[in-house]
This record gives sequence, structure tokens and C-alpha cells, in this order.
Amino acid sequence: MTRRALITGITGQDGSYLAELLLAKGYEVHGLRRRASTFNSSRIEHLYQDPRDPDARLFLHYADLTDESRLTRLLRRIEPHEVYNLAGQSHVGVSFDEPEYTGDTVGLGVVRLLEAIRTADLDCRFYQASSSAMFGVAPAPQDEDTVCRPLSPYGAAKLYAHWATATYREGYGMYAVSGILFNHESPRRGETFVTRKISRAVARIQAGLTDYLYMGNLDAVRDWGYAPEYVEGMWRMLQGDRPRDYVLATGRSFTVRDFVVAAFEHAGLDWEKHVRLDERYLRPTESGELIGDARRAERELGWRPTVHTEELVRIMVDADVEAVQHEGRPWVDRPRNWPPVG
Ligand code: NDP
Repeated sequence: MTRRALITGITGQDGSYLAELLLAKGYEVHGLRRRASTFNSSRIEHLYQDPRDPDARLFLHYADLTDESRLTRLLRRIEPHEVYNLAGQSHVGVSFDEPEYTGDTVGLGVVRLLEAIRTADLDCRFYQASSSAMFGVAPAPQDEDTVCRPLSPYGAAKLYAHWATATYREGYGMYAVSGILFNHESPRRGETFVTRKISRAVARIQAGLTDYLYMGNLDAVRDWGYAPEYVEGMWRMLQGDRPRDYVLATGRSFTVRDFVVAAFEHAGLDWEKHVRLDERYLRPTESGELIGDARRAERELGWRPTVHTEELVRIMVDADVEAVQHEGRPWVDRPRNWPPVG
């Protein structure tokens, strides 16, 4: 029997990689996308299939995590075997500007999905995208038992969602798990996230399109992995015998400055000539050192990252250099009948 998966946030970085993975594994994949006045599906263009094609296995549906009745109707119609909740306002810095909306989508959005699954009495497994931002100023390294002390509206909303997921697991016997993922990046990372902002700027400076990269806190310590490896971990979490939360991380720490230096060096540029401080990028509060301990995932899921920050920097800078050269996105192979009508 063909397994059906529903991915919220399919148009995002992780959603696009997860859709690729599940399609390759033979799943029928349903993705929720938001209605926007411009096209927001560039990361999944290369996966597009005409839904009239009898062999089509990717289907997109308009929905928003703030619209509970729509979520309920879709879940009842699709009857997925697995739900991956990757949607929401995912930027820590923006969460200080839009704390209420962040809480609505990142926090309450999860409860809407879980309630929809519960009330429809669906027999499906649920994955929640928890985040290392929940740890905030908790001492590093952090694992599944670390007591969280989030210091951003985003981290607080993720923590609410995390415990809501645990509540539905314990209270209703649902197979509902949270992956507590440390930062993971790729050429598909949103352009306002720090790693992508750096790799894009390096490519544009090298091409003579701009001179400066404006940054906030260069001393922030993070644990950066490679997104395609992390979506494999998400899938493994839903294949287990019993539902359990897992940290996914590389366990290695780098500062933002380290990332900047490596990216500029890779492009043969002197970072000190091009990087400027812009205080507008400093946040009201900063998380402490975020360094993950993923030993449980290695032991129980056999998951282990192989791409570390040095290689990640090279992958991202090379992709953006190529994108600048080709004025586009290197991963996109535009299909026939794109964009879809209706
Ligand atoms: P992205 O920002 O790339 O993608 C977010 C997705 O959520 C997009 O598809 C976006 O749609 C969708 N979305 C946003 N708001 C809504 C809404 N109100 N209703 C429906 N969909 C919405 O994030 P990532 O792929 O990087 O991350 C996936 C998940 O994992 C997120 O929940 C994130 O918070 C979490 N996470 C990510 C980490 C990382 O390092 N990448 C680390 C830990 C957790 P649109 O394309 O229309 O904007």
C-alpha cells in the first residue's frame, strides 16, 4: 500500500528536502502551501507534477496554520499515515518584531493540527519541528533532558508546541514526536538567515555586485549541520517502535565570525574589508551557546551527520557563486506546465 504523508511548510527549506526524500521512498506526498500574491514554491518547482497525471504523487493544497477548519477538512480528506509539521514563522529575529503572529503559527498552529488529527480519529504519526532555540540560555551541550530556558518569542512558542506534542502523546496515546533540531542549513536556506545571508553576500561581493555585508552579533555560538541529512532524521523518528523525542545536531560549535571568515576565505576575499556592524541586527536578547548532544539519535535511530560546518560553508558559498553567475537558483530544473494553474 502506498503510504501518504502530509508536510506543512513544504515550500520551506526542510519541506522541500523532505518532499524529495519521501517521493524517492515511494510515498504519496501532500503539501500545504500558503496563498500569496506572488509564487512562493520556488524550492519545489523541480518536484512539481501535474495532478491530472495518473502517476502523480505530489499534491499541493492551500492552507494556513491559523485556519483550523481548513486543516481539519484537509486531514480528513487526505487521511495521511504521517504528518510532518514544518510550517511557521521560523526566524528568531523576526519573532521579536512579530511575537503574537509567531505564537499563533509556531505555538497554537501545532495544537490546531493535533486537535484535527485527534478529533478526526486518524491513525497517523506526527512529527513536530522543535528547535534548539527552546534551550535559550540553558548550559551547553544540550540534549533531550536539558531544562529549556528560551529567550525569544520564537523559542517560547516552540517550547509550548513541544510540550503540546508531548501532552497529546501521553494523554491520547498518539504517536507524536518532536525532533529538537539544531541549526541546519543549505543553499535553500532563506536569504535572511545568517548563514545564507553570509554566503549570498560573499558571492555578490566576489562578483562586484556589492561591497559590504552588514552583520549583528558575530560572537553567537551555534551548531550548524546540513539540512538534507536532518530531514532523513525526521523520517527515521516516525519509523520507530515507540514515540520518542530526539536531538539532531553535529555536536560541534562555531561562532558566526568563524562562519564569516571561512566563507570569505573560500571565495578568496578578506572578510575584514567587507564586513560592517549594523546595530539594527542586534536582538533584545541572545541565546547562549547552542551545541547539541545527538547521541540518543545515533544510538536508537542510527542517525549521524557527516557534513560539518567547514564543508557546509563550501557547499553554500559555491551554490551562491553559481547562482550569481547564472542569475538563478542552481537546484531548480523547471518542469513542463509550470506554474500550475488553479
Ligand atoms: P522555512 O522558513 O524555510 O520554512 C517555513 C515554512 O512554513 C514555509 O513553507 C512557509 O511558507 C511555511 N509557513 C509559514 N507560516 C505559515 C503559516 N501561517 N501557515 C502555513 N505555512 C506557513 O523553515 P525551515 O524549513 O528552515 O524549517 C522548518 C521547520 O523547522 C520550522 O518550523 C522551523 O522553525 C524549524 N526549525 C528549523 C531549523 C533550521 O535550522 N532550519 C532548526 C530547528 C527548527 P512560505 O513559503 O509561504 O513562507
